[in-house]
Amino acid sequence: MTFRNCPTSSYSGDGQDLTKETSRKNEYADTEKLRNFLDRLQGKKFMLDCGHRVTFGFYLGNDIIIRNGKVMKIVCADCGG
Ligand SMILES: [Zn+2]
Repeated sequence: MTFRNCPTSSYSGDGQDLTKETSRKNEYADTEKLRNFLDRLQGKKFMLDCGHRVTFGFYLGNDIIIRNGKVMKIVCADCGG
């Protein structure tokens, strides 16, 4: 016979409540939200501040770096890395 410490009676939730509570207090969304936002750029082509170009969603497309600030500066990874 095996005895296990299994405190099922003290288990008071399914974990969902804690998650909701945390996200309500947290003003930062996760990267999935950002990804969904950026997905709108799929197939779009842009000239960057460094003079290079980017095509979003293209498998050989440049990576970009967004210099955050009052005015964002967007350059390719080669120029901004
Ligand atoms: Zn560049």
